Amino acid sequence: MTCDEVLTARVLGGALDAAAAAHAAACSRCRADAPAAAALHRTLAEHRTAPPPAELRVRTLRAAAPLVAERAIRPRLARALAATLLALPAIVAWDTGVVRTVYAALTAVLPAGLSAYVVGSYGAAITVLVALSYAAVPLLAARQARASWRPAHA
Ligand SMILES: [Zn+2]
Repeated sequence: MTCDEVLTARVLGGALDAAAAAHAAACSRCRADAPAAAALHRTLAEHRTAPPPAELRVRTLRAAAPLVAERAIRPRLARALAATLLALPAIVAWDTGVVRTVYAALTAVLPAGLSAYVVGSYGAAITVLVALSYAAVPLLAARQARASWRPAHA
């Protein structure tokens, strides 16, 4: 226990615990500071502040809303990305199977080069669509989070 801790406890009005009381009883500085600390405590206890304006809460929540909404987006974004990335291996495996099956069927009736061009075009188109879909996930998650977030006490 230090003199500063005892002084702080006295100014704040907290009761001194056994160690603080023992220190205060044995310490000449703490005994000397006791009246000043008590006077300061009384002064602080008598000080009153004006209540905040009624609209302060609303203005504060309104000002903080964009930041709070931005923080609310992160968990939703992480969940959305995780959920969509779980499906990606299945999508790739399924499309690979489709490409192989279609290529095998096409080579039965078309030249191999033309069959490769057709399934290659299909594969490229699917790759672009999947990439665009996955690129849209963060944007959609953020938009959905912003739309669903409302200040709790506004
Ligand atoms: Zn002391």
